[in-house]
Order: sequence, then C-alpha cells, then structure tokens
Amino acid sequence: MKKIAIIGGGIIGMTLAIYLDKQKCHVTLFDSEVGQATKASAGIISPWLSKRRNKKWYRLAREGAAFYEKLVTDFHLDETIYTQSGTLLLRKKNDLADLAALAESRKLEAPEIGEISLLSAEETQKQLPLLKQQPSLRISGGGRLDGAAYLNELRKQALAAGVIFQSASVSIKKVNDSWLVQTADAKKNLGTFDFLALTAGPGLKALLSPLGYTIDIRPQKGQLLSFNTKFKDSQSWPVAMLDGESDLIPFYQGNILLGATHENQAGTDLTPTKEAYDHLREVSQPFLASSELFAGEPPQIRVGTRAYTSDFAPFFGPLPEDPSLVVASGLGSSGLTTGPYIGYLLAEYFHTQTFDHVDLQKSLDTYIKR
Ligand SMILES: Cc1cc2nc3c(=O)[nH]c(=O)nc-3n(C[C@H](O)[C@H](O)[C@H](O)COP(=O)(O)OP(=O)(O)OC[C@H]3O[C@@H](n4cnc5c(N)ncnc54)[C@H](O)[C@@H]3O)c2cc1C
Repeated sequence: MKKIAIIGGGIIGMTLAIYLDKQKCHVTLFDSEVGQATKASAGIISPWLSKRRNKKWYRLAREGAAFYEKLVTDFHLDETIYTQSGTLLLRKKNDLADLAALAESRKLEAPEIGEISLLSAEETQKQLPLLKQQPSLRISGGGRLDGAAYLNELRKQALAAGVIFQSASVSIKKVNDSWLVQTADAKKNLGTFDFLALTAGPGLKALLSPLGYTIDIRPQKGQLLSFNTKFKDSQSWPVAMLDGESDLIPFYQGNILLGATHENQAGTDLTPTKEAYDHLREVSQPFLASSELFAGEPPQIRVGTRAYTSDFAPFFGPLPEDPSLVVASGLGSSGLTTGPYIGYLLAEYFHTQTFDHVDLQKSLDTYIKR
C-alpha cells in the first residue's frame, strides 16, 4: 500500500482523493479550510471563447470542460451540483458575430460547446429576465458548478471509500526516504507518508519555501456577491458572462451570484469590502434590466484567494528531482474548469508512476526551482 498525504482539500485535492485507488493507496487529506477558492467560486465552466493565446492552457481548459461528462457519471453528480445550464455572452453586436465564428471553429475539436446561437435583444431577456434587452451569443454546452456542493458530495463518497480527513494547517519535512507531516508550527507530528500531493493553492509557497524552493505563485483576492432573491425558478436560467469583468450566475431557489473581483494587491486578506460591492454593482449596472437585484435583502459577500503564476497558467505533476513530491497550483480564474481533470491526471500518476503532459503545460521548472 502506498501511503499518500494530500495537502489542500479544494477542487484538485478532493478530486485526486476520490480517484485514487483505495485498494492500492492509503489516503489522508489535510485541509486548513482557510481562504479556499473552490468554495468561494462563481461556478462558470465555459472556456471555449477565451481570447487567451496560450495554446497549452486552452487545450487543458478544453479537456477540463470535456472531462465533466466523465466526472458526473463516475460520481453521480446531480444537477444541483453540476449542470449544463448554457452560457450567454454579452458583447457589442459586431463582436458577437466574430465570437460566433470562433465558437463554430472551436466546436470542431470541442463538440461539447453544443448549439451556438445569436440571440436577439428580446430573446436574451427571455432567457434571463434580470438582463436588459441586448443581443447575445448563446452556447448550450456552458456549465455551472456549485463548488461547495461538489466538495461536500465528494468528501462524503471519499469518506465511505476510506479516505481519512484531517482539519489542520500543516508543514512538511523529508526524513530519510519518508515525508513527515506536522502541524504548521511543527510542534505535533501528524503522520509519515511515502508520497505527498501538495494541492494547497497559494499555500504551496509556504509549504515548499522551507525546503529551499522558489515558486512562481502569487495570491489574488476574489470577492463575489451572493443574492437570495424571490426568483425561485432561477436554476433554469443560463449563466451570463457580461462584457468586462463581471458575470451573473443563477443557482437554485433564487440564489444568484454576481462576481467576481480580481484584486492583486490584497495578499491573502479575506475581509469582505464595500469597495468590492460598489465595484460589482457599478460594472453590472449597464447590463441589468433594473436595480431589482440590489433592491431586496443585501447580498452576502464571499471571499476566496486564487493562486496565479506569471503567465497565468497552472502547473502540476511530480517534481523531476523528487517524484515522491507532487504539486499542482496556479489555476487562477479557471480552476473549476481545469481542476478536476488535473486531480484525475495526478491520480493516474500515482497508479502508473508515469507522467507526460507536455501538451498541457510548460515544464515544471518554469515555475518551481531549487
Ligand atoms: C471569487 C472566485 C470566483 C471564481 N470563479 C470561477 C469560475 O467561475 N470558474 C472557474 O473555472 N474558476 C473560478 N474560480 C477559480 C477557482 O475557484 C480556483 O482556481 C480553484 O478552485 C482552485 O482550486 P485549488 O484546489 O487549486 O485550490 P483551493 O480551492 O484554494 O484549495 C486549496 C486548499 O488548500 C488549503 N491549504 C493551503 N495551505 C495549507 C496548509 N499548509 N495545510 C493544509 N491546508 C492548506 C486551503 O485551506 C484550501 O482549502 C474562482 C475563484 C474565486 C476566488
């Protein structure tokens, strides 16, 4: 039996835990539950029309979105957790035609995009009544994930399969050929392991720096507004990606999210701010039919910390100089899209001891050096 410790119980760590073969691996997952991006996230799975030029990132994101079909089947995820709600993209009318052409070309390799339709101003509002009348592009394959519900469901299934969960902020140390996991203050030993998977988001730096590594990773604060509205059929509405920074994500029973901020100077601060509320209100205003969303009870503000690299691309896999140490971080704003697939690929590494995904990322030493 391989003894594996996973450090970080967000979307990568939890997916890795569930996919590891428990007949061959003894799995313990440590999570400090602080600032987690997955629980705070907005939920949009719709990478296909990104204008980012990084081809490896796009391939990873495309395969990540396609992977949801397997994920839903493997763990019987119901539509309160993940659903293909469809996505509306709001842009200037001329830009929409270009976007539709891009969608058609990308659909050749990504049939999961589904139907692509240009909607009139009236049709857009009919699809999502909170929006002003404005033309949009609809892609039917766009998805919506409830990050917190996903983690709850997988945790339940992983517990039943024998994964051990420990709520703790930890540090790590190599002792002979084993990995020692200790409390963050190093006062208490929590276990020794053959392998470590560090899936700690921006917390990766604090885990690896004491071992002499420099890591290209920085925290980014993200805040979003969570409204409890009277629109009880909201789950049937599509997600709207507004032109600019904000998105409107209708969930179940009137829960509607508006997000999110991208704050690069806030470190790992988790304080909800009025500035974020004002900013999200202002940038969404040109797209909303009325101020109805803001007229009811005040929204809750959710805060999480994303992990970013200098080129905004994730990295993942075993370290070349020590294959008993596996890392994954830097998922940025699209980690719900890429995270489950990365977790699955890491599980495959533990099963086969081979790892070769140069088509999906730059080499690890681009991001981690000793
Ligand atoms: C507001 C917001 C909106 C977002 N919206 C979207 C979206 O719509 N679509 C999309 O694709 N992505 C979105 N994202 C991005 C996505 O949520 C993240 O990229 C993804 O969840 C990162 O997953 P992760 O597993 O790498 O890290 P996390 O989910 O952050 O999990 C890391 C875990 O590691 C734990 N940890 C850290 N250090 C230690 C330690 N020393 N000991 C123990 N535990 C530790 C933390 O407590 C945390 O629980 C959003 C993010 C935010 C913040």
